[in-house]
Amino acid sequence: MNFESLGLHPLVLKAVTDAGYTEATAVQQQALPAAIAGRDLLVSSQTGSGKTAAFMLPALHKFASAPAAPAPAKTANQVAQSARSRGERTRFTPAMPKMLVLTPTRELALQVTTATDKYGIHIRRVKAVSILGGMPYPKQMQLLSRNPEILVATPGRLIDHMESGKIDFSQLEILVLDEADRMLDMGFVDDIELIISKTPESRQTMLFSATLDGMVGNMARRITKDPMMIQIAGSSTRHENIQQRVHFVDDLSHKNRLLDHLLRDSSIDQAVVFTATKRDADTIADRLNIAGFAAAALHGDMHQGARNRTLNSLRQGQLRVLVATDVAARGIDVPAITHVFNYDLPKFPEDYVHRIGRTGRAGRQGLAISLVNHAEGVHVKRIERFTKQIIPVDIIEGFEPKKKASASAPSSRRAGWRPGDGRTDTRSAKPATKPGQRTFVKPSAPRKDSAGFRGDRNQRGDTGRG
Ligand code: ADP
Ligand code: MG
Repeated sequence: MNFESLGLHPLVLKAVTDAGYTEATAVQQQALPAAIAGRDLLVSSQTGSGKTAAFMLPALHKFASAPAAPAPAKTANQVAQSARSRGERTRFTPAMPKMLVLTPTRELALQVTTATDKYGIHIRRVKAVSILGGMPYPKQMQLLSRNPEILVATPGRLIDHMESGKIDFSQLEILVLDEADRMLDMGFVDDIELIISKTPESRQTMLFSATLDGMVGNMARRITKDPMMIQIAGSSTRHENIQQRVHFVDDLSHKNRLLDHLLRDSSIDQAVVFTATKRDADTIADRLNIAGFAAAALHGDMHQGARNRTLNSLRQGQLRVLVATDVAARGIDVPAITHVFNYDLPKFPEDYVHRIGRTGRAGRQGLAISLVNHAEGVHVKRIERFTKQIIPVDIIEGFEPKKKASASAPSSRRAGWRPGDGRTDTRSAKPATKPGQRTFVKPSAPRKDSAGFRGDRNQRGDTGRG
């Protein structure tokens, strides 16, 4: 399905064409017509599948199509000014956004705002701003004073502004919860409920989440009306275009040596190394720098300015290796990331899926490598159960673990195991190399041909609607 057939406003369509999108992704194919028609949506689909456009294009279409609002008798500034002239102590005139996008992290919020600017570039009268923890208040007040149509925010900081009367949601038309499962995991449930209680019942609500089960599902049902369910089958966890591997290591020094070795692979454009703690992120980034890699850490203890600078150098290609914690790396969308390394395994299998989704963006190929202690084999199993994929074990000559992988990994999972040997799903990750031999399929360049976006390949026609 191409974008022309959707009846999008010409200015939105033009931005989509500028962005180089030719085909709507699977999730966009289902979400766009329904969202344009004003329906509520509950969507689960894998990272990198184009969800931002799925909610932002319909919103921009709506705002671009609406007749220009009649100029108010007095602008907000005039009201404030005449109040001042009467000697009243003016409070800030509240911003009255038409759309609110809630995201779990600042990085994701900034990304959504950037995408909105891109998709809305030809619609002059629509402004989007992000309201984030860590941003100086005066700067945020200045952004809010422009009375933007679209607010992208993390829940905590937004509540601060609502409580001090700086934002009024009575004119809100569209509410989006992006990565809702993650927001709930992060403990934002009360904040979200409070925010929603200040918005009109008449709003359109779109919720995006890796899963629609459990707590997210409950909330989703409470806050939507007759929603259309879009679940891109199994894809929230499948990542067909990302090869996955496990390397067993004996100890920390073995792990560090192996990481250094793997990072010297010339097929790496850019890589993200995930660590369990902020401290490890710093330590490893320092160590890699000394070893000659252009590396930097990204974690939640860093000031927003430092985080932004790091992300910008990553985007501009000045950094080759980002060493990050889960929360900080959430939502990073840099197409040149060819490799993800799990220096530590994540606590939750869901996070594994989000981590490896940092590579293989926009339909490219990616490789995700986990460095695992023998004792962690059970965690690998949990991830495999969750993703319904076997992660092949790989061994590199000169870096063989002393301990055989037997205790933690059944023999079928050692290097050389092939999909289709009767144990599992034949659509699982590509086979590992033969023992001792190492191969790597170089991630392919982005496709510019008419095949367009391929991130959801194998999933078309495999979708469920409920
Ligand atoms: P998600 O929110 O599902 O993780 P994003 O909205 O961040 O995914 O999109 C992932 C990447 O895919 C972005 O770089 C985006 O520009 C790109 N993208 C989105 N839709 C299309 C499309 N129809 N064709 C090509 N690229 C697309
Ligand atoms: Mg997203």
